[in-house]
Amino acid sequence: MLEEAEKRFDPEEVIAEFEALTKDAKRVQVETLKKILKENSETEYLKKWGLDGKTDPESYCSCVPLVTHKDLEPLIQQIADGSPHPILTAKPITTITLSSGTTQGKRKFVPFNDELTENTMQIYRTSYAFRNREFPIGNGKALSFIYGSKQFKTKGGLLAGTATTNVYRSEQFKKTMKDMQTPCCSPDEVIFGPDFQQSLYCHLLCGLIFRNEIQVISSTFAHSIVHSFRCFELVWEELCSDIKTGTLSARITDPTIRTAMAKMLKPDPELADKIHEKCSSLTNWYGLIEELFPNVKYIYGIMTGSMEPYLKKLRHYAGGIPLLSADYGSSEGWIGANVNPTRPPEMATFAVLPNIGYFEFIPLREIGSPESALVRVEPRPVGLTDVEVGEEYEVVVTSFAGLYRYRLGDVVKVVGFHNSTPELQFVCRRNLMPTINIDKNTEKDLQLSVEAAAKLLTAEKLEVVDFTSQVDLSSEPGHYVIFWEVSGDASDEILQDCCNCLDSTFVDAGYVSSRKVQAIGPLELKVLKKGSFQKILDHYVGLGSTLNQFKTPRCVGPVNQTVLNILCNNVVKSYMSGAFG
Ligand code: AMP
Repeated sequence: MLEEAEKRFDPEEVIAEFEALTKDAKRVQVETLKKILKENSETEYLKKWGLDGKTDPESYCSCVPLVTHKDLEPLIQQIADGSPHPILTAKPITTITLSSGTTQGKRKFVPFNDELTENTMQIYRTSYAFRNREFPIGNGKALSFIYGSKQFKTKGGLLAGTATTNVYRSEQFKKTMKDMQTPCCSPDEVIFGPDFQQSLYCHLLCGLIFRNEIQVISSTFAHSIVHSFRCFELVWEELCSDIKTGTLSARITDPTIRTAMAKMLKPDPELADKIHEKCSSLTNWYGLIEELFPNVKYIYGIMTGSMEPYLKKLRHYAGGIPLLSADYGSSEGWIGANVNPTRPPEMATFAVLPNIGYFEFIPLREIGSPESALVRVEPRPVGLTDVEVGEEYEVVVTSFAGLYRYRLGDVVKVVGFHNSTPELQFVCRRNLMPTINIDKNTEKDLQLSVEAAAKLLTAEKLEVVDFTSQVDLSSEPGHYVIFWEVSGDASDEILQDCCNCLDSTFVDAGYVSSRKVQAIGPLELKVLKKGSFQKILDHYVGLGSTLNQFKTPRCVGPVNQTVLNILCNNVVKSYMSGAFG
């Protein structure tokens, strides 16, 4: 016991370490790059680029090119196929991470190693330490909607799974969660169950059983929390009945989950009645989380970027419970921690940890007119401490797991500095929406346009459950198609207004001018059957993705034919915009 207490990390020490690292970010970056390059100097990749053992940033950036995942794909494939050579890293890669692939429609293989797990823990500890100053929690549990996806062996015998699964399976994860006083209230059998619907049901059930101990409700991405409570609306009476009788619903068929849950579930009519009463007294489920979990201190998950559209619903469920946005990372590696937990999720920033990788930033400032874009040479990336406040950049990562000058494809904005490390705001994925003419709309523009149009539905007490888009080039001129799932039946009149509003709220000058001269056709709004986005989620989970990392694809391209089919087969109504005459 004493030994365990001694090993627990001290949040103030974590903060002191973070302050020291960020005060000296430039030097730490140089040291980190040196360490990565030294460790991997004999790899085929670095030898090929003729680094010759040099480890300084200038030589590195002049010898080694910027790459995308596509460039590295054949090399990662060789690793997955079991090549015995040190291709990207000196130490053999034993695990492969599968990115969620929900933004670009294609799952990517990326190398994973213990350093990435350690980086993850450093990020978790750092943001927790800052969070705990503002929102201290006592000993308790977390209702964490986390899922271990299926792992499989690659041709070369390497274990492959999603990044979150690799982390959840690690011993360090459990220890860190315990240190952070938020061990998951559900048993491992539920987290690693073979069917996510069954796991989700049991997460909810465990949460209710431990309702007085729950301090935090969390998931990796906020979508998963909203999705879980939407499911709760459908199954709450069944959950109450399980608690009342002490017998698990027949919908749970997996024997390992049943055995694990049987140990926890005892007849408790009093608890069941209390939950029943609380749920029955709510109006449209407002404040559900607050009512169910009397000691919950905050709700925690990534709420920025493509998660922002779920915030309204999350706030509705949360009632008065604060929403705290989590850190910024990817399957390829972590980038920054949210060290300002009191900021509203929409304003969340991420302070880059200078010792977890070497970071560069490609400036994205517009120079010249759209016509000159063709001849424009992309600006050179700048170092971590050379970025400028107010500017947007694409993130480039060099990691301990074999990625060198890797373009992540994310756009961030520098909004300030924490000591000498930048604080980033996530803007969007780069190039998500293909161009029809000279339009340059991003995921963020789409989000803002949907947000504006969805306001028209509130008069009818309706909401957009989820949305995506497609750039339809099958007829001349091409046009945008936006798919909506709406929570109930809206009138044609309102939906037509929504469609016009969607079209007219894209502010990008290229789009507006192309619409005016009909070089881009009228925007089309297609309304989907209820449950369509659940089908898309099921499709990704069926491919081995996990709910943890699920992000609704915001623009579906032709490579993603299955999702396009789901969308097209579930359209119930469609409208053409009359916004530009
Ligand atoms: P994955 O492919 O599942 O590893 O997802 C990684 C991607 O999720 C990143 O490249 C970002 O586009 C997005 N992402 C991760 N963290 C955040 C965050 N805090 N805010 C917004 N988007 C994020």
